[in-house]
Amino acid sequence: MKFRVVKSEAEWRAQLSPEQFAVCRQKATERPFTGRYNEHSAAGTYRCVCCGQPLFASRSKFNAGCGWPSFSLPLDEAAIAEETDRSHGMVRTEVMCSNCGAHLGHVFDDGPGPDGLRYCINSVSLDFEAAGKG
Ligand code: FE
Repeated sequence: MKFRVVKSEAEWRAQLSPEQFAVCRQKATERPFTGRYNEHSAAGTYRCVCCGQPLFASRSKFNAGCGWPSFSLPLDEAAIAEETDRSHGMVRTEVMCSNCGAHLGHVFDDGPGPDGLRYCINSVSLDFEAAGKG
């Protein structure tokens, strides 16, 4: 998969915290119920922590009880890239930032909305921008 924003491992390590690097660039998963946006319900936009691309709107966020921020849909389909993930003995759909390839989380088909989708996203991959700013 090709992305517009391409940086070396050293550049990403310099820009990101160790936890952000592990999740976004090495596809780690934050421990459930530990992320800063898990129970976050303010109005605004969630951007990619690596490149700033807007990814999810607070109006699409819901509490799935799974321990990670969950969204029923992305802000724009074009903001998200998906790939089949066969790691850990499961077949899942990985969700990435379409601009820089940051690992965000996975999308499942057990969501409550009309599309039935649940975008299960690491808080670490996100940066929240409150509505009405800038
Ligand atoms: Fe990004």
